[in-house]
Amino acid sequence: MADRYDIAVVGGGHAGIEAAVAAARMGCSVALITMDPDATGRMSCNPAIGGTAKGHLVREIDALGGVMGMIADASAIQFKMLNRSKGPAVWSPRSQNDREEYSRAALRMVRSIPGLHIIRGMVELLHVENDRVRGVTTSGGEEIACQALIVCAGTFLNGTMYTGLDMTIGGRFGEQPATGITETLLRYEFETGRLKTGTPPRVSMRSLDLDETTIAPGDDPPQPFSFQSPVPDIRQVPCYITRTDERTHEIMREGFDQSPMFTGRIKSIGPRYCPSIEDKIVRFADKTGHHLFLEPEGRDTDVVYVNGFSSSLPADIQLRALRTVPGMRDVEMLRPGYAVEYDFFPPHQLRLTLETKAIHGLFLAGQVNGTSGYEEAAAQGLIAGINAVLSLRGEEPFILRRSEAYIGVLIDDLVNKSTLEPYRMFTSRAEYRLLLRQDNADRRLMPHGHRLGLIPDDVFLAMHERERQISSLRSIVESRTLAPGTLNPFLRGIPSPPVSQNEFLGKIIRREGVRAEDVLRLDGLASDPDIARAVRDDRVLEQVEIETKYMGYIDRQHRDIEKFRRAEEALIPENFDYARVHSLSTEGREKLMRIRPRSIGQASRISGVSSSDVSILMVFLGK
Ligand SMILES: Cc1cc2nc3c(=O)[nH]c(=O)nc-3n(C[C@H](O)[C@H](O)[C@H](O)COP(=O)(O)OP(=O)(O)OC[C@H]3O[C@@H](n4cnc5c(N)ncnc54)[C@H](O)[C@@H]3O)c2cc1C
Repeated sequence: MADRYDIAVVGGGHAGIEAAVAAARMGCSVALITMDPDATGRMSCNPAIGGTAKGHLVREIDALGGVMGMIADASAIQFKMLNRSKGPAVWSPRSQNDREEYSRAALRMVRSIPGLHIIRGMVELLHVENDRVRGVTTSGGEEIACQALIVCAGTFLNGTMYTGLDMTIGGRFGEQPATGITETLLRYEFETGRLKTGTPPRVSMRSLDLDETTIAPGDDPPQPFSFQSPVPDIRQVPCYITRTDERTHEIMREGFDQSPMFTGRIKSIGPRYCPSIEDKIVRFADKTGHHLFLEPEGRDTDVVYVNGFSSSLPADIQLRALRTVPGMRDVEMLRPGYAVEYDFFPPHQLRLTLETKAIHGLFLAGQVNGTSGYEEAAAQGLIAGINAVLSLRGEEPFILRRSEAYIGVLIDDLVNKSTLEPYRMFTSRAEYRLLLRQDNADRRLMPHGHRLGLIPDDVFLAMHERERQISSLRSIVESRTLAPGTLNPFLRGIPSPPVSQNEFLGKIIRREGVRAEDVLRLDGLASDPDIARAVRDDRVLEQVEIETKYMGYIDRQHRDIEKFRRAEEALIPENFDYARVHSLSTEGREKLMRIRPRSIGQASRISGVSSSDVSILMVFLGK
């Protein structure tokens, strides 16, 4: 073969970018083969990054040395912390982005990495010898040899797009589908399936009457995703909220007989938590309206994304329905919504490293594993990229535990539970969500990123300095007291009951309505240099407040994790012969043989493996 690389990555989407950048930064020669380099990092659907639980993933990717957070910060037009009115476990950062600028920033990032070569082409054939990947051939006949291959083909594998009764082949509006990869993997007895997703229409900002909508501004001050980004100094662009009503739904119903979903032309399953508007009208028939968010696709563009109105009904129906919505009476539709169907590979066929069980050196990441969303894809790309390098070096794999990161939860769920419908991340999927907060992702994961060579020394030192400030302030808060004379006037203003003797600062901060920042400004404290510095640093203060207020719950989760860790460390030999353990249930044995868990902990999370199966296994293994 002509060109040789350590690692080849197929697809320059969100997964492919992270995989290629991580592998190259870790010292490998990397080919990123993608159909259109100008579409690198293209946002297929909404021009936004993060959101509930997805924002956690971006912060974790950043802490491990991935690039999604930096690209999002560089191209954002609005920043918002979602769920502020709820507990800190679910606070989730989100940015609205300039779609074109996001893609440009992604391409700049990829091009800036030494050892990373971008190759234009469509990979059509995978070469495998003795169950080991050897390279690929593109549709143009170019052969590229590699020792490890990471397939990140997104929604492109045999992609078919639908609007009403119109059907076109393609992976995304205006882009060709990819053929050949599924067909190659079927020859190696991979299981494959079809999934579906959809996107809403785009409309012209000039045609909207924004006075009839509610304005949704960004946060002031804005908070970036990346530890390495400065506080954004941008003019933020607002979004606008409006609502469908019965008239909208009535018009949509007129098109149901031409819906590719309702007429059975699309048979595959779509994202349950991101349904099309026609799906919402049917599933929530008692609801008389649904919120729509009008999101500008950039600072200098007329294009607006109609979030909440994903549809594959005929274009004329979409337009007529939109014109019933407040603010959209004269709306000009620039492009109708559509649905896309594509191939995926049920992810129980993967190891926790995202390497396939059937072919050594072949990794799959992103939408091809049945997930939905940019952030889920990027997280997998990063883990696949890191593990591809570690496997070439013959080093221990990098596997994050469920108790360590949402990324650990994501991959553990995919491999152990597999999925037959698009999987998206939620905070409720994590058992230890009070510990896996977005605000402490750096403290949880940067040591890994640094050890792997993905976080530079100076960034790691800066994180350490912040860590030092947090722990010093935490011990001040739990050890220092204030007298009733200082505390009571402050408590009266909250209002909160007075104290009759000296009280620890921590106890006061744990009271409802009390903010750490205000307590630390009381007389007698302000002169302490550690306190003075912390009060100026929002991030230190925020974490001290959360850890103080939720101390009891956090301690309990740490104890639970200890039990969890012991089960995770009870390893099962890779070639363990489950057929020898006669007392296992038939279903349990079949699932264990299929998934081949690494540990007792992982075995216990496989659906169909009962707690008695786990006990039997523990006895058999002498654990
Ligand atoms: C119409 C549409 C609507 C969507 N709606 C939603 C939604 O509502 N909610 C949601 O969470 N997600 C949605 N998504 C999914 C979201 O876009 C993906 O989750 C995300 O982009 C996946 O990232 P990825 O890196 O896996 O793949 P992608 O971003 O799809 O990138 C794949 C890349 O690989 C390239 N490629 C593919 N095959 C080959 C090949 N054989 N050779 C070379 N290059 C190749 C492509 O050109 C592309 O650059 C939607 C996607 C589409 C297309």
